[in-house]
Amino acid sequence: SHCKEYGFVFPSSEIYDGLGAVYDYGPYGVELKNNIREYWWKSMVQMNDNIVGIDASIFMHPTVWKASGHVDAFSDPLIDNKDSKKRYRADVLIEEHIAKIEGKIDKEIEKAKKRFENFDEKMFRTTNARILEYQKKIDEINTRMKSALEKNDLAEVKQIIIDCEIVCPISGSRNWTDVRQFNLMFSTQMGSVADDANTIYLRPETAQGIFVNFLNVQRSARMKIPFGIAQTGKAFRNEIVARQFLFRMREFEQMEMQFFVRPGEEMQWYNTWKEKRIKWHHAMGFGADRYRFHDHLKLAHYANAASDIEFQFPFGFKEIEGIHSRTDFDLNAHEKFSGKKLQYFDSELNKNYVPYVIETSIGLDRMFLAVLAAAFEVEKLSSNNSEEEGNERVVLRIPAALAPVKAAVFPLVKKDGLPEKAMEIFNQLKQICRCYYEEKDTIGKRYRRQDAIGTPFCITVDHESLKDNCVTLRHRDSMQQ
Ligand code: ATP
Repeated sequence: SHCKEYGFVFPSSEIYDGLGAVYDYGPYGVELKNNIREYWWKSMVQMNDNIVGIDASIFMHPTVWKASGHVDAFSDPLIDNKDSKKRYRADVLIEEHIAKIEGKIDKEIEKAKKRFENFDEKMFRTTNARILEYQKKIDEINTRMKSALEKNDLAEVKQIIIDCEIVCPISGSRNWTDVRQFNLMFSTQMGSVADDANTIYLRPETAQGIFVNFLNVQRSARMKIPFGIAQTGKAFRNEIVARQFLFRMREFEQMEMQFFVRPGEEMQWYNTWKEKRIKWHHAMGFGADRYRFHDHLKLAHYANAASDIEFQFPFGFKEIEGIHSRTDFDLNAHEKFSGKKLQYFDSELNKNYVPYVIETSIGLDRMFLAVLAAAFEVEKLSSNNSEEEGNERVVLRIPAALAPVKAAVFPLVKKDGLPEKAMEIFNQLKQICRCYYEEKDTIGKRYRRQDAIGTPFCITVDHESLKDNCVTLRHRDSMQQ
């Protein structure tokens, strides 16, 4: 509701009651989103002299998706609850069950910490036994799930759900249908003749636009391996469960980078990029303990290693970025399906090869949600704070570099030449950053509105300003003036 009230995010087509898992960005939302995208782009392209960018089309030749494996394998296992008629991703139901058991382990540890002073041998043994028991359960479920998903054994996936006694969160029942695979790609028709030959897809990832342009980019920008190609853009997935706001949308934006390396050197680069990307997240300043790696149990058909960077959202630790070692799968497949060579001549080794690829892939919308979730605070204020009305304020502590508006300029009152002076400052400042001018309401209320959209600085012009050319500068986080 904060997002809607303050112009960050609106439901799509809201006057028609919205469209499932599709959202529009409002005046402040689009600024924040653009800033996150630009921050990512600069850190990837501008700061790395061996990474260049492209902007490929959303529509691609349909054979691209045959070659990439998406037509045959880009699907999720779904299951329905017969009582609530709600649909779930079977693997997510199991992962959430595991997360609950992990929560029990955390509770045991917390309890032990609290009783640290008089923690005797007996207590230690029982706590330890309980934790080991929980861990054993988790390992068992993980092993079964990994094996079932690898073999595409959907009956076994259902059996795990039954054995774990997982209930539908809506109906509370265990009345499940069988598990089925569901392809997540949206398709449409190109041209005026509606037959199968014209079926094309809305891209489910931006990566393929990079692979098919690999040689165009390498030759035109004269890149030498190792090098990367970066891209931001829309992707579309017909998600089965789409009930988590910006976390899982059907139309969303990705920021991806494919890094091309010598075969055999991919694990070293995989580790390098894991490290670089986690540092990028830590630089947001939300606290390193809000991030963790989660190495994949089930590897996608193209990967030989994969890890997610997970962020602690209000609804738990969830993936925000994927780092994948994609081998030479994609380039090989495109060579095969297109009949064109996609090889690189390495002059140092004096040989041709198909490069291996490390991918970093982050969702722009998920990053947006992470920033808002970490930045949002309802702050209690001390009663002797004279500037403020009431005893709490809603503040978005968005890192200044990402804040939608950097500075707001206010005349203290709407007369005596103060608006003209404030306008003068505003007109100068807007040349270098996104600013805001306002003269309505009390200063306290104006500060509040800027706090609520995360503006780091407010500048107030008063009668003194006309004499001494000084203003009051107020800092959002400390409220210091
Ligand atoms: P999940 O397991 O959550 O479905 P994924 O592993 O399929 O995600 P990738 O294919 O690795 O995701 O996509 C890379 C990134 O794109 C993700 O880390 C995420 O930030 C973003 N992303 C993927 N699907 C969505 C979506 N439906 N809505 C918003 N962002 C998404």
